[in-house]
Amino acid sequence: MDFIQQLFHIYDNYKEPMLTNRRYSHSDLMLVLKKFDNSNVIKKNLLGTSVEYRQIFLYKIGSGKKKVLLWSQMHGDESTATSAFVDLFNFFEYSSNELFVKEKILQELTLYFIPMLNPDGAEKFIRFNAQGIDINRDAKSLQSPEAKILLKAVEDIKPDFAFNMHDQDYRWSVGGNDKVVALSFLAPAFDDAKTVDPTREKAINLLSGIIKLLSDYTESRITRYSDDYEPRSFGDTIAGRGISTILVEAGRWQNDLEKSYLRKLNFLVLLFAMSRIAENFIENDSRKYFETPYNGKFLFDLILRKVKLKINSTESIVDIAINREFHFDDNDRSSYYVSSVEAVGDLSPFYGIEEVSCENYSLHFPKYSDESLKLNYNELNSGVIREYLQNDILFLSLNDFSRLDKYVRYPINVIRNEFSLDEKLIISKPANFILKEEKITKYVIINGFLIDYNNINFESVNGLFL
Ligand SMILES: [Zn+2]
Repeated sequence: MDFIQQLFHIYDNYKEPMLTNRRYSHSDLMLVLKKFDNSNVIKKNLLGTSVEYRQIFLYKIGSGKKKVLLWSQMHGDESTATSAFVDLFNFFEYSSNELFVKEKILQELTLYFIPMLNPDGAEKFIRFNAQGIDINRDAKSLQSPEAKILLKAVEDIKPDFAFNMHDQDYRWSVGGNDKVVALSFLAPAFDDAKTVDPTREKAINLLSGIIKLLSDYTESRITRYSDDYEPRSFGDTIAGRGISTILVEAGRWQNDLEKSYLRKLNFLVLLFAMSRIAENFIENDSRKYFETPYNGKFLFDLILRKVKLKINSTESIVDIAINREFHFDDNDRSSYYVSSVEAVGDLSPFYGIEEVSCENYSLHFPKYSDESLKLNYNELNSGVIREYLQNDILFLSLNDFSRLDKYVRYPINVIRNEFSLDEKLIISKPANFILKEEKITKYVIINGFLIDYNNINFESVNGLFL
């Protein structure tokens, strides 16, 4: 067993137990990191503050000659690597010299971490900073304090290697096939010709080793991120300064909404890369990197295949693609989904992460509950809902509608009074309809979720929607 396999098995010892969700605030993170304040291993340094005056710190580990700079969450809703950084801090602080890798890294390298570069974005769990600027498009004009902080750190530290840690859209596919990308990598280009100079080659060769390592852990759901030159982004800017730069993008792993598996893989990838850099053992072989497919855009959350659709007197057979976007409530940080119909027609080049064959099923538009049937929230139970669905009613309003009801804890839409239903499919509007074979209901689509009408598992539906 190599040390990565061993680390894979002992990772849980270092996984930070206070970080369990993807969304947490700057103050949550500061509370977690407080335990390192008196550490002999991890040294903290204030770099500056964000637009909303949140402090951005640099954490330094090791005393070696080679310098590695890593930063995370310049996009506020991309926290996977921030969590992995804390797991790494735990590893360097608390592990014994497991497998000799730790001492070697601490001797040969100085590691500089900037976790959560965009704390104001993290507060709202959005991509942008408090000015609305995408920090990764601000490397040139430097109009945000966060971008200035990062570039100054690069100039002061002058690292040999830089790791630019992100999360990408989870619907990217592996090339043109139906697999969802787990992790995507890039050794960014620093000019339009995508020149490979010795520094970029080092990053490419290191990535070849990483991709080889990961195929065992990811079912080969690995891609290359687009290498088109983007002079406004940090990776491309820093790569142009003689620093071997690596972009890591965490995508999606099945049934892992909180991305804990990809966080673990981030931890492994970074320790592997650090050990290779420390040992000066980067194979002179770039093949694996260039063989790796690019991210493709061929996936939707759900595709209904060959549905009979009738609008006025026009009858057709179409595929219907539906996506669901994850939203957070800023007040109580609870999460919910909003669905949308993305495309209708011949969608044969595309794949659904979930697909259902609807041959012979016709699409029916839902009805809205009669005012006289209005219920209170606590009267809403599985029997009542089944009855509604039987009558094609997918929307109901409650006497005691509250803000919480938008999180739809049942396979039915709870809405406010003012509402009208369209008898047509509208692109970008939420997906709510019924699929019937003759007069028999087969499926209901509630807010983009497919519910098998004959087999509604209310417990799992509750979990799904929350
Ligand atoms: Zn990003």
